[in-house]
Amino acid sequence: MAHADLVILGGGSGGYACALRASELGKSVILIDRDKLGGTCLHRGCIPTKALLHAAEVADAAKESEAFGVRATFEGIDMPKVNEYRDGVVGRLYKGLQGLVKSRNVTFIEGEGRLVAPDTVEVNGERHTGTTVVLATGSYARTLPGLDISGRIMTSDQALNLDYVPKSVIVLGGGVIGVEFASVWKSFGSDVTIIEALPHLVPNEDEAVSKVLERAFRKRGIAFTLGKRFAAATQDDAGVHVTLEDGTTLDAELLLVAVGRGPNTAGMGYEEQGIAMERGWVLVDERLRTNVPNVYAVGDITPGLQLAHRGFQHGIFVAEEIAGLNPVVIADVNIPRVTYCEPEVGSVGLTEAEAREAYGSNVAVYEYNLAGNGKSQILATTGFIKLVQVTDGPIVGIHMVGSRIGEQIGEAQLIVNWEAYPTDVATLIHAHPTQNEAMGEAHLALAGKPLHAHA
Ligand SMILES: Cc1cc2nc3c(=O)[nH]c(=O)nc-3n(C[C@H](O)[C@H](O)[C@H](O)COP(=O)(O)OP(=O)(O)OC[C@H]3O[C@@H](n4cnc5c(N)ncnc54)[C@H](O)[C@@H]3O)c2cc1C
Repeated sequence: MAHADLVILGGGSGGYACALRASELGKSVILIDRDKLGGTCLHRGCIPTKALLHAAEVADAAKESEAFGVRATFEGIDMPKVNEYRDGVVGRLYKGLQGLVKSRNVTFIEGEGRLVAPDTVEVNGERHTGTTVVLATGSYARTLPGLDISGRIMTSDQALNLDYVPKSVIVLGGGVIGVEFASVWKSFGSDVTIIEALPHLVPNEDEAVSKVLERAFRKRGIAFTLGKRFAAATQDDAGVHVTLEDGTTLDAELLLVAVGRGPNTAGMGYEEQGIAMERGWVLVDERLRTNVPNVYAVGDITPGLQLAHRGFQHGIFVAEEIAGLNPVVIADVNIPRVTYCEPEVGSVGLTEAEAREAYGSNVAVYEYNLAGNGKSQILATTGFIKLVQVTDGPIVGIHMVGSRIGEQIGEAQLIVNWEAYPTDVATLIHAHPTQNEAMGEAHLALAGKPLHAHA
């Protein structure tokens, strides 16, 4: 039996960030994971998918080169080579993370952990007690009732490991993971159809963003059906056969099920130890405390946005909280969000609809069209940056769509989180010619002094 200041169950974004920060603050830490340190984000999520998306961008650049006067031919995708590049990226980051955890004197234990007392985790037959216990066991890819994941029907976990480019794919779910895979496969040469039950793709985004993304996907030849629910799917040697509730049938080589992620909490002893839960999620207060004293939960197992940087921030928060540093509460609404399909989507804060719900008619919006932005013209992308402002008050939401526009989320999140007014941003200088200028231009316009925009 070993004792540490912190015992952390789960070594993904939330768990390892907590371990690193706690050790910086002089705490002893035991970090437990049944799989590889780094969790979903590093091994099955953010990093490998973004590597595929970059390969997709390279493929698109080759295909579209003629428009820029460059003679190149696109001869196809060598999927094993793409995977090798992706694995190289993941492998280097994994090695770096292992080194970091070691250098901070965090004790990493590989094995399936189980909460056997409020202050004790059992792993590999040994018990480890912590003055504080942090639950960070993350999430898993969900499916729908009656839809078994096997063979041609897969989630992102299996889709990431394909060593060939499918001829055709049906993507069930037009949320973040669905549109990112759809975008990759289309660039790699597959025929892609997305099925989304809600009225729009990326339905959590501002509606104006969804509409531009839909237009761009249509132009790219990515098919989608909106507002129709999935009914059933079968598979045989010929492929997958999907039926929608209205009777529409669709066939493809593969079906990707991207209907969201559920909390990874079953059978880990949480309920037995009296941790308050709801439909598998671990309930926490705004200081990430569960109802059981000295037990915290971070990341995807808590209800809310499922993002790696939320997990990092949760982990850091708990480490600082138990060190008595009184960290600032993390509000989900102001966590930046990026969807890395082509074109990209970036957003932070309230959508226009949410702002109107909160502030009634006291809301001003401005949409700066990327057509007026030099760098976007150079990149041949369209889209916009939309600002949502409380009338005569601060910016409460920024919504963006366009190639590479996700990079602008850095300034966008500062503006929203620092509750900047358009006039504050209008005094700041944005380098020319960058897409970042569009951020400055949008604020200039909302401050009543548009430069490269009509009043
Ligand atoms: C395809 C895909 C793409 C994504 N892209 C992005 C993106 O671009 N940007 C972004 O911000 N987010 C992205 N995400 C989401 C991101 O990966 C998660 O939000 C993040 O990993 C959550 O961190 P976590 O620490 O809560 O959980 P996880 O990363 O899931 O880590 C939980 C860890 O707990 C371990 N574990 C579970 N149960 C036990 C047990 N009983 N004993 C021991 N160990 C256990 C698991 O092995 C795992 O390592 C993506 C996710 C997916 C699936």
